[in-house]
Amino acid sequence: MTFELQSPLDMHIHLREGAMLKTVAPLSAGTFAGGVVMPNLVPPVDSLARLQAYREEVLAGVGDAVFEPYMTLFFRNYTREELEAARDHVIGIKLYPAGVTTNSEAGVAVLEEAEPTMAIMEELSIPLLVHGESGGFVMDREHEFLSVYEHIATRFPQLTIIMEHITTASALALLDRFEKLHATVTLHHLLVTLDDVAGGLLDPHLFCKPIPKRPEDRSALLAAALAAHPRLMFGSDSAPHPVDQKECCGCAAGVFTAPIAVQVLVELFEAHDRLDRLQDFISGNAQRIYGLHPPEKTVLLEKADFTVPARYGDVVPIKAGQTLSWSLSGS
Ligand SMILES: [Zn+2]
Repeated sequence: MTFELQSPLDMHIHLREGAMLKTVAPLSAGTFAGGVVMPNLVPPVDSLARLQAYREEVLAGVGDAVFEPYMTLFFRNYTREELEAARDHVIGIKLYPAGVTTNSEAGVAVLEEAEPTMAIMEELSIPLLVHGESGGFVMDREHEFLSVYEHIATRFPQLTIIMEHITTASALALLDRFEKLHATVTLHHLLVTLDDVAGGLLDPHLFCKPIPKRPEDRSALLAAALAAHPRLMFGSDSAPHPVDQKECCGCAAGVFTAPIAVQVLVELFEAHDRLDRLQDFISGNAQRIYGLHPPEKTVLLEKADFTVPARYGDVVPIKAGQTLSWSLSGS
């Protein structure tokens, strides 16, 4: 048995820099035709010159594989001139509330001060991508941030807003209330709850932000993904950290899923008898929402056991050592 996907897209990916980029970029390019590359480097990608240099580094890391890096700028207050110059080079601008996740210290502290830039983005049709968490109690951070999404969506009704990596049933419910509001969901938030992270022995390789939530949240997200909810896109938020930064005190947040995301999604959708919806979830919805024309790339999978490697370089992937029921054809 085989299954074919056309131009899968990963609408939220961390490719890092330097040696890590050289390890992980080819892995994403192995199964995806393109990805939305996050800008939370140190220092952040917050100028067109830096973005263009980073894009070159990504393309060099990808090598000969077909892969379109859709670049993002790190949100700060940009001038109209800066935004006009950047608009043809970016898929959107990523807003991090200050200090909520890896390398977000330079993020936005007072949202009102960000509004002049949002107004120009709305006018120039530049999407706003948001890591939507408050500074509150860890399980409540996304829910508390929903009022901020409501505020932005009401104040800037023509601004395309992407709620990145949603983890709650309440975020999903908000999608249906605003026409220009969309969301990405990760693979790991479709698979795990907080119990898998910390309910038994601590699993540092599942520790991430936003923290996985309750079973009913995962169920709601999974149902929406399996139905290819038209406002929902796949975005892995695959976030590699070297093993010594995960298996330690002060474990870094992030789950590394990119190399096996497609195979696991095929397994998951098949298990729920919804393989017919996967193409839209993993590519069609994103193409429509962002108006993308990704490079043509056919990914062929076959029903054959595949054991996930213990490591890719010095990064431990999700499901390391476990056997999946689908593999890439020819691998
Ligand atoms: Zn992310």
